[in-house]
Amino acid sequence: MSKTLLLTFLSLSALTLAKTEYTGGKYLGRDIITNLDVTDLEVGKTHEFFFQGTENSLGSPWYIPVTVVKGEKSGGKFLVNSGVHGNELNPILATYKVKEKLNPKNVKGTVTIVHGMNIPGLLNNTRGYKFGGNSENTSDLNRQMDSGKVTTVDQKYSTLLWQNLLSKNADKVIDLHTSGKGSQFPLFVYADFRNTEIKKMAELTGSDIVKMDNGENGSVETSFVQLGIPSITFELGSSETQEAEIVARATDGVLNNLIHWNYLDAKETNSKVETFYGNTWSRIRAEKGGFVEAKVKVMDKVKKDDVLFVQYDAFGNVVMEYKSPNTGVVASVKDYPYSEPGDSLGRVIEYNSNDKDQVLK
Ligand SMILES: [Zn+2]
Repeated sequence: MSKTLLLTFLSLSALTLAKTEYTGGKYLGRDIITNLDVTDLEVGKTHEFFFQGTENSLGSPWYIPVTVVKGEKSGGKFLVNSGVHGNELNPILATYKVKEKLNPKNVKGTVTIVHGMNIPGLLNNTRGYKFGGNSENTSDLNRQMDSGKVTTVDQKYSTLLWQNLLSKNADKVIDLHTSGKGSQFPLFVYADFRNTEIKKMAELTGSDIVKMDNGENGSVETSFVQLGIPSITFELGSSETQEAEIVARATDGVLNNLIHWNYLDAKETNSKVETFYGNTWSRIRAEKGGFVEAKVKVMDKVKKDDVLFVQYDAFGNVVMEYKSPNTGVVASVKDYPYSEPGDSLGRVIEYNSNDKDQVLK
């Protein structure tokens, strides 16, 4: 047997033999697990676990809260993930709101919900995994989920979670996010429209904007898509805050997916939002330093050369006007007005019919 064949055989055996592994210990009254296989959990029950991550610099493990609702009726495996980026908080609340609507009587198959994945990031309000000790460094877990690397602690963390918690427990996935720090964002989806099921998942969210794109290697979304498992990145407004209306709409968007794909017995909510579908966007960057006044809001329709931002010098003289590079919709606006040259001020999204991959039919 060749080395590759042997490795394939070994990894297939590992997958087949995988089962939920309990440490035997408890944390805050919940069982601690080191591997999750939702297929062997008791049917007709809502399970709450702590998944044991890597150890922190004091030698204690990070514990990730995970709910698995295992329905009385059989069905597939849906995964709702959140908090890969630790300063994105609307998603955490949305996982609680989704869970409130689920119980073993109305769920078919299993719905797994990860209530915040990047614990060091959540504790420190950082987007990336925050290294311990006196390190200022962080690492973006959403670019390395399926890398298989285990050299540094962030790699050990993402690889462990990918292999033992996420990748085997899903046949459809919604990964919840928000915009990055310092910019306003609508309800927004990244979705790879080359796959018709993914297209439908995006439509079911009732988002303001869907950006059709080929994905980002190492993200939760794309790592699943590359395994053949339909997945979307669902962006819930702005970071580091809670926005009730966005969370409510996102909750409906997740529930509509669960209902449509036959994981949940309930009635779909009709979204009243008219979704804008785009596949390319332009970022407007500051060229000077100074106070920037936004002349547009998120979701404003703009034409090429409309003025989006005005920048002042320290005396209140206008030093720059920033015009829209294209005709489209304002997708993001920087919310902190002082800006240095190079700062991103916002983005305008459009539909480009020359894109051969991401096509709206
Ligand atoms: Zn994010």
